[in-house]
Amino acid sequence: MEEKNIVWHDTNITKNDRNSLLNQKPCVLWFTGLSGSGKSTIANAVERKLFNKSRKTYLLDGDNVRHGLNKDLGFLESDRIENIRRIGEVSKLFVDAGLIVLTAFISPFKSDRQIAKSLVGYDEFIEIFIDTPLEICEERDSKGFYKKARSGAIKNFTGIDSPYEKPENPQIHIKTAKNTVEECVDIIINHLIKFGYIEENNDYSI
Ligand code: ADP
Repeated sequence: MEEKNIVWHDTNITKNDRNSLLNQKPCVLWFTGLSGSGKSTIANAVERKLFNKSRKTYLLDGDNVRHGLNKDLGFLESDRIENIRRIGEVSKLFVDAGLIVLTAFISPFKSDRQIAKSLVGYDEFIEIFIDTPLEICEERDSKGFYKKARSGAIKNFTGIDSPYEKPENPQIHIKTAKNTVEECVDIIINHLIKFGYIEENNDYSI
């Protein structure tokens, strides 16, 4: 890489200042799992619940990010790695801004999740494994991708002809075959309360 004369500037307002103002401990809720496992559904429901608790959040969703920031990237291994790296960097900025960031990406490779994790503090990265058996994801086929992957119309599809490396020690392990969306959301919210990311307070709904 080209050597550049670039210097890091410290800013006046620190992360701690922002945390006190927002009254929350920022973090990344990194949802990982097969396509159709329930990442987007659960992440959206968690964000709604946090919003109703007046928490400041931002959801980065796989498909949406590929429409903008990462629209130059395809699905080759090198592109997938770059996709996750950029999402990790954006998450880091949002954590610095004081937000609770939710990311919903298949992120099938341990090494890539490790890179995203390494960008923020050790207690700022919460890996959430949305553990749904392939058969169920395929039966749901919410986006019709499995059918296309089985017919060969989509290549390198995770779970079919590209591997998914399961997290070994996720902070939160969700089994959607056993729990409803609402129950999955409660498991995640309770974790955030238990470990001091948010306080328990009264909900208001809009
Ligand atoms: P992903 O983001 O992982 O690709 P989606 O959230 O887009 O998955 O799709 C998951 C599908 O599974 C949705 O149609 C959702 O309604 C359905 N589903 C059924 N039960 C559950 C559950 N317990 N948790 C999450 N999703 C569920």
